[in-house]
Amino acid sequence: VSGLATVETALEQTYPDALETLKAFCRIPSVSTDPAYREGVRTAAAFVADQLRAASLPVVELLETGGHPAVFAETRPIEDRPTILVYGHYDVQPPDPLEKWRTPPFEPDERDGRLYARGVSDDKGPVLIPMLVVGAYLKAGVELPVNVKFLIEGEEESGSPHFEPLVERSKDRLACDVVVSADGAMWRADLPSVTVASRGLTALDVTVTGAAKDLHSGRHGGSAPNAVRALVRMLATLHDADGRVTVQGFMDGVTPPDPAIRAAIEASGFDAARYFGEIGADPPQPLPSGIDLLVRQWLEPTLEFNGVFGGYSGSGTKTVVPASAGAKITCRLVAGQSPARVRDAIVRHLESVLPTGYRLDIGLHGPGSEAFAIDPDLPALAISQNLLGEMMGKPALRVAMGATIPIGTVFKRHLGVGTIFFSFSTADEDYHAPNEFFRLENFRLGQIAWARLLARLAEKP
Ligand SMILES: [Zn+2]
Repeated sequence: VSGLATVETALEQTYPDALETLKAFCRIPSVSTDPAYREGVRTAAAFVADQLRAASLPVVELLETGGHPAVFAETRPIEDRPTILVYGHYDVQPPDPLEKWRTPPFEPDERDGRLYARGVSDDKGPVLIPMLVVGAYLKAGVELPVNVKFLIEGEEESGSPHFEPLVERSKDRLACDVVVSADGAMWRADLPSVTVASRGLTALDVTVTGAAKDLHSGRHGGSAPNAVRALVRMLATLHDADGRVTVQGFMDGVTPPDPAIRAAIEASGFDAARYFGEIGADPPQPLPSGIDLLVRQWLEPTLEFNGVFGGYSGSGTKTVVPASAGAKITCRLVAGQSPARVRDAIVRHLESVLPTGYRLDIGLHGPGSEAFAIDPDLPALAISQNLLGEMMGKPALRVAMGATIPIGTVFKRHLGVGTIFFSFSTADEDYHAPNEFFRLENFRLGQIAWARLLARLAEKP
């Protein structure tokens, strides 16, 4: 019996324990963006460290960042073996709105072959897999085919504000031949895919102020400035009727996408009517093609209103003229766009459409992140693509992703290595919404796949 077969058998046998471990992980409310959950975040970091110790890794440490800690671990180095760095995160999105959950978000519930809990798909299930796999090698006494390091952070869901400085100052310890990310979902449950590009992100808050205080609409309505009215007029100028961004300078620097992604879009058979059905929206008329929709999701930038507020929105009525109103805006960026330049272009646009008699204030949220693309010739990319295809019974496509994973750029910049995504979550698992779930068949399959990936990366990472 080969070493790999021994490891795979061990993983099958310990699957029930692994599932219990995943449930325990999901019971920890590690919401990184909300200070009310600070204890939960600390507990989750300690849980990850304990798992890595239980997996027999000789070096396991919490790395303080000034925010939430990251967990670092490494196997005992074997000379002349390549080294991979496994990336993932233990923090989760906020569970709100709570009333939309069928079962409580931090009480994992198993139904229909799925585990439901906040964070189970993003990223607790996927990141637990490589920890279990390395543990299976070490505990079975099978020599690891590669040296493995782990860097599991706790701020991914709040924009990783301390991550890049951490990588920069730890670059000697993190040195590796390739990064394998356990974060970054597969695109569709029925179609194996590897993610080769992701969009960047920039964010800003817009506040418009008219009078110094809220006013009575009977006494002042018609004469006083209404900040909600000014704001919605301004926001309406940011897109055309088709939803395309009209901000001058927004598209500056955009570079053409990888032709492999276009080919995947055309090969995917993406069904537009089904898409609108799945998101519970009425399809627009005329119905756009599936290709158009995917091009928009993967290859075009966006400007999205994430929230608009001002005045009174409670029950009943309140006859108020709001003094101020605001909106939260984020943009997904494509290759070539600079987060700072995009933000500046939006600010210039808003200043140019600000009505007189109002004040505009802009709040920023860090530097944002550029879009990311993997070097298409990276050997590890072909290895992971072929392996996934074999395991899932059809060839894996190279796809882009509309979401943002800034780590690829960070690792390239400071460690000089490429990043591949090898995640067993799927993009439809509601991971930023109520009733997040993880397909348990992928929890099982992912463990076998990771065991094999480590063996194949030994040949040429
Ligand atoms: Zn994630």
